[in-house]
Amino acid sequence: MSYSIFKVIKEGLTGQRGWKPAWRNPEPKAHYDYIIIGGGGHGMATAYYLARRYGKKNIAVLEKGWIGSGNVGRNTTIVRSNYLLEGNQPFYEFSMKLWENLEQDLNYNVMMSQRGVLNLIHSDAQRDAFRRRGNAMIFSGADAQLLTADQVRQMVPFLNYDNARFPIKGGLLQPRAGTARHDAVLWGYARAADALGVDIIQNCEVQGFRIEGGRCVGVETTRGFIGADVVGSSVAGSSSRLMQKAGLTLPIESHVLQAFVSEALKPVVPCVVSFGGPGHFYLNQSDKGGLVFGGDLDGYNTYAQRGNLPLVENVVECLMAIMPSAGRARLLRMWGGLADMSMDGSPIIDRTEIDGLYFNGGWCYGGFKATPGAGYVFAHLLATGESHEVAAAYRFDRFRTGHVLDEPGTGAQPNLH
Ligand SMILES: Cc1cc2nc3c(=O)[nH]c(=O)nc-3n(C[C@H](O)[C@H](O)[C@H](O)COP(=O)(O)OP(=O)(O)OC[C@H]3O[C@@H](n4cnc5c(N)ncnc54)[C@H](O)[C@@H]3O)c2cc1C
Repeated sequence: MSYSIFKVIKEGLTGQRGWKPAWRNPEPKAHYDYIIIGGGGHGMATAYYLARRYGKKNIAVLEKGWIGSGNVGRNTTIVRSNYLLEGNQPFYEFSMKLWENLEQDLNYNVMMSQRGVLNLIHSDAQRDAFRRRGNAMIFSGADAQLLTADQVRQMVPFLNYDNARFPIKGGLLQPRAGTARHDAVLWGYARAADALGVDIIQNCEVQGFRIEGGRCVGVETTRGFIGADVVGSSVAGSSSRLMQKAGLTLPIESHVLQAFVSEALKPVVPCVVSFGGPGHFYLNQSDKGGLVFGGDLDGYNTYAQRGNLPLVENVVECLMAIMPSAGRARLLRMWGGLADMSMDGSPIIDRTEIDGLYFNGGWCYGGFKATPGAGYVFAHLLATGESHEVAAAYRFDRFRTGHVLDEPGTGAQPNLH
């Protein structure tokens, strides 16, 4: 069923009785050509592009709970391609271009809003660093503008300019960046993948791998053994736990990241505002009016999807430092998600040492913006056995050869990325 304005009007006039479930609920088959583990954004996008771009059939996505119950439905919805390093920026710009056409591609409203991402500048050194980053963005075909303090004030008048602990001296703006409705992205991919014949199997936890003669021939699940020619893992915060079941130790730790939303306010923040340097904080306003914001990881390793109060205090202090008027708003909700933090802060999309078993993970807390791109290039790897050119740096062996992609420059300290 194709969604359109005519369908919405027709259903509005006929009691909304003609809508059909957006995806099926099939029983698992005994064997698939491709199994993707993890019904998050990345897993679902991988299945979609495998079917759509690479013409593959007989594909299943296995999800231990319900699709969208992981980070894809828990993130702060920020989409951008404002990276510095050569191994990263072309990938994120590739993903950005897929975002720009995603709604037409999926025939689904993912509420993509290119409202801009503004990184605030608080010191001369930070301005130099952002100028360098902006140039790297422009070289990769992305957009970037360096703004003066007056231009920032005109754009976001409700920040603290006059009596600020950390005075705002300008900003780096990416106008094409912005936000997308996170769970709608997952639903859009699920609906489109299902329409191409992908089996989405929920309540089906992968508990082990069957490996014969060095080759993965299928997965042991809570719904029995399911055979496969090719298996791809896309389980985000559960990556290290799952791959351990195949005997693999990953250069990844899991940490909890919290996010927050306030009660609905009138429009006060027109773009995404990011406050880095003196603190670490990012803020946007949802279409319903809530201020959506977050900051650093809690800082300890965990598989629990909830955080603790010291980080709440830290994040709220950052909010008060840049926008004191927000202190009068009430907090509506807060939650946590599991971030798969790699040793250099950059992701891994690669084959493993077990034939037929592939891995996508280590997205830290920046993988939502990567959803279309990661799905596309992981599908490319699964379908062709070769890395896609924009993901050529995302290999396991960079940790052995020392060619790490340390975007924030903090070293092998996952909790600092
Ligand atoms: C609070 C928070 C804020 C964030 N903000 C942003 C942001 O603003 N911008 C941005 O770009 N990124 C952001 N991120 C990061 C982003 O959400 C993740 O990097 C990305 O969603 C991970 O990919 P995914 O969607 O596939 O993960 P998930 O949605 O977590 O999908 C993984 C799935 O695998 C399933 N699974 C796990 N183990 C098994 C198993 N054994 N068998 C079967 N299924 C299994 C899980 O149930 C889950 O559904 C944020 C993350 C958090 C937690």
